[in-house]
Amino acid sequence: METAASAERASMEEITALAKRRGFIFQSSEIYGGINGFWDYGPLGAVLKANVKRAWWHDTVELRDDVVAFDSSIIMHPMVWKASGHVDAFADVMVDCKVCKHRFRLDHIEDRSKCPDCGSAGSFTEPRKFNLMMRTSVGPMEDSSSQAYLRPETAQGIFVNFKNIYQTARKRPPFGVAQIGKSFRNEITPGNFTFRVREFEQAELEYFVPDDGKDLECFSQWVERRKAWYAGYGIAPDRLRFYELTPQERPHYARAGVDVEYLFPWGWGELESIAHRGTYDLEAHMKLSGKDLRFFDEATKSHYTPLLIESSAGIDRTILTFLVDACERERSVDPNGKQTERTVLHFHPQIAPVQIAVFSLARNKPELVERSRAIETALRPLFRTSYDDGNIGQLYRRQDEIGTPFCVTVDYETMADGSVTVRDRDSMRQERVQAGALASYFGERL
Ligand code: ATP
Repeated sequence: METAASAERASMEEITALAKRRGFIFQSSEIYGGINGFWDYGPLGAVLKANVKRAWWHDTVELRDDVVAFDSSIIMHPMVWKASGHVDAFADVMVDCKVCKHRFRLDHIEDRSKCPDCGSAGSFTEPRKFNLMMRTSVGPMEDSSSQAYLRPETAQGIFVNFKNIYQTARKRPPFGVAQIGKSFRNEITPGNFTFRVREFEQAELEYFVPDDGKDLECFSQWVERRKAWYAGYGIAPDRLRFYELTPQERPHYARAGVDVEYLFPWGWGELESIAHRGTYDLEAHMKLSGKDLRFFDEATKSHYTPLLIESSAGIDRTILTFLVDACERERSVDPNGKQTERTVLHFHPQIAPVQIAVFSLARNKPELVERSRAIETALRPLFRTSYDDGNIGQLYRRQDEIGTPFCVTVDYETMADGSVTVRDRDSMRQERVQAGALASYFGERL
């Protein structure tokens, strides 16, 4: 049996290569040379993504009787984005280098006197504003009246539906509305793999509270809940920080704000922003639409605009965090004293795309193959499983690289006494377990 002797973090290059090699993430439209800022999730990546979304949804919606589900359309009336401020103000300031022609976000350049790519001094154009919303046109005519936008965030769909939602769900503040969906931003400089992209998914919670003095306490409770969520899925605590925004860093209407940040190989990056947004969003829509979106309190027969606490997380950035945080290169010594190396993803079992891999020790022994397939089929309705056969060392390495917590091997002993070898990904420890007891064995561990 092997034991891990030392472990180190994998580099971004290794993680990107692994993600491609194992079918987690591919460059979009690769056969045409790719398109900057867009990525596809492969067979394992798509499962990983579904698991991450489910983990968020379970904690934010299913475990709460005060949060309801929502799913709004990507394209909305253009006035939505006028009211929200996106048409006028959702812009980054950019500059171009006149020498190498590369474009930069001004706030991403550390030394503004020279180009970070070609090093030329004084080569920047005048800074200009660039709106990040993706434009499209709706209907057969392409003129200004048909212009629409792909949403840059999911939240506005909830605000404009606030009245529909609270009336039909029969909810009164405090209550929340949650939504997961695609958002689009024409980022000036996409990069750092899937960290900054032009099409991504957001998981947003809009929690409406009465203005009764308990709003800041409620804000802190959501921050704590999100902290517990990341910790519960095993994100290293020393690589995660909850940065409290100063009043100068917050929008003028916000009463509190916390950015959730992870320490990526290139530095700290934002995963989520939690903000107390006051009455800003509902009021902006009431003003422009002329419609009353206030909550009507049946008990007191009066109207009021609830305060809003928002948690806005990026699914793609969370997935990247899970990948980066889980990925380690480990050196070990095998029983013969030989040095070996493996790359392993220490995914939480709820996040891992495959939870149990079942192997037949030999590919050319029909009775072993049949037995292992039967074991895999029996476990399949209960867990995420897969079947494979061949060289056992290679099979383990492959499952380690995709983060499968357990491997089960069917061998000749199985045919004699019904026991199989169960191997634990993290400790690499192996034990014999009766095949008939596997469902309860894994039920306790997964
Ligand atoms: P940044 O400063 O990194 O551009 P932001 O502050 O504009 O991000 P928000 O508007 O607060 O981001 O969006 C909430 C969340 O949506 C972010 O924390 C992030 O997880 C996700 N997100 C935003 N923009 C992108 C993007 N271009 N690619 C991937 N995820 C994104």
